[in-house]
Amino acid sequence: MSRDIYVVAEQRDGSIAKVSFELIGEATKLAADLDQKVYAVLMGADIKGQCQPLIEAGADGVVYVEDELLKEYVTEPYAKALTAVIKQCEPEIVLYGATSIGRDLAPRVAARIHTGLTADCTKLDIDPETKLLMMTRPAFGGNIMATIVCREYRPQMATVRPGVMQRIEAVPGKTGEVKELKVAFTDADMNVTIKEVIKQSHKTTDITEAKVLVSGGRGIGSAEYYKTLQELADLLDGDISSSRANVDAGWIAKDRQVGQTGKTVRPNLYLACGISGAIQHIAGMEDAECVISINKNDTAAIFDVSDLGIVGDLKVIVPKLIDALKKYKA
Ligand code: FAD
Repeated sequence: MSRDIYVVAEQRDGSIAKVSFELIGEATKLAADLDQKVYAVLMGADIKGQCQPLIEAGADGVVYVEDELLKEYVTEPYAKALTAVIKQCEPEIVLYGATSIGRDLAPRVAARIHTGLTADCTKLDIDPETKLLMMTRPAFGGNIMATIVCREYRPQMATVRPGVMQRIEAVPGKTGEVKELKVAFTDADMNVTIKEVIKQSHKTTDITEAKVLVSGGRGIGSAEYYKTLQELADLLDGDISSSRANVDAGWIAKDRQVGQTGKTVRPNLYLACGISGAIQHIAGMEDAECVISINKNDTAAIFDVSDLGIVGDLKVIVPKLIDALKKYKA
């Protein structure tokens, strides 16, 4: 058994997902506690050239599987490839991004190699005594944090949501081991026919990348009011996000949702407008550098996690902020 930590590096069209770099960063810390190495697993067609950025991001090496069958993500060939990597390399820990691909692939592989999987972790640690991976995730609707260990089976596996962990600074020119693992695919491994790949036509920004987020809760009163929040966000060179209440109401797209069942964000400024501060919302934004909240209820829980709280009607305050910023920028 190698006892190393493996990170499944997710790629689409040859470009590596941000979460994979974040997981490599986290894995280097865990590996230091275990005195082990970090390997990235890269699967795709013609992807050898993408190994170097993974090494520069902190991986000691990359195991890659290349095949035309892996050009687009399809569960069956990817599960076969990763199962082969795990069986051959016998890692101690395998980490996946809790993305649509990671959430599809990880349980499939867990079943094939007969091990456990803790989904949607927000914290990973090594128990100093047992050296087991302690996988922490929200449970019971976010009311408690549960720490789960996998004592009996290997590897210990977890998915981690994008934005939760932090990448470490890349070291340009860093060298590492790059090894190819050959997997004998057959036509039967491709149980899906891809007729056409349709890319999302509208350009959406990723709220996990925004430095400033103006976030609207139910208190904004209507979908229309996001236009005003967008105006404020534009003046702050930021973007708009939302509580789940408004996503459920159909006022804004799901990819804007912050929180336990949405995205975890870490902007420099999070401006919460008409958001009560439910525990499931706070789980996604509490690591923002500065939180400013506007709420007409002075006992709203969002004020407990705010650096600055403004008690009042957002319909009065937001337009005043917009006017002030316009004057400032003029
Ligand atoms: P409300 O709780 O209704 O709060 C509206 C706030 O606006 C109030 O505080 C009110 O005082 C204020 N307000 C009203 N009018 C004005 C005004 N004119 N000016 C100023 N303030 C005003 N929620 C998430 O956000 N993200 C998640 O990922 C998420 N996941 C969940 C997962 C589970 C399993 C469950 C059970 C729930 C989850 N929720 C999530 C829902 C969460 O519990 C809350 O219901 C939700 O966050 C409430 O959204 P809100 O704060 O916008 O609305």
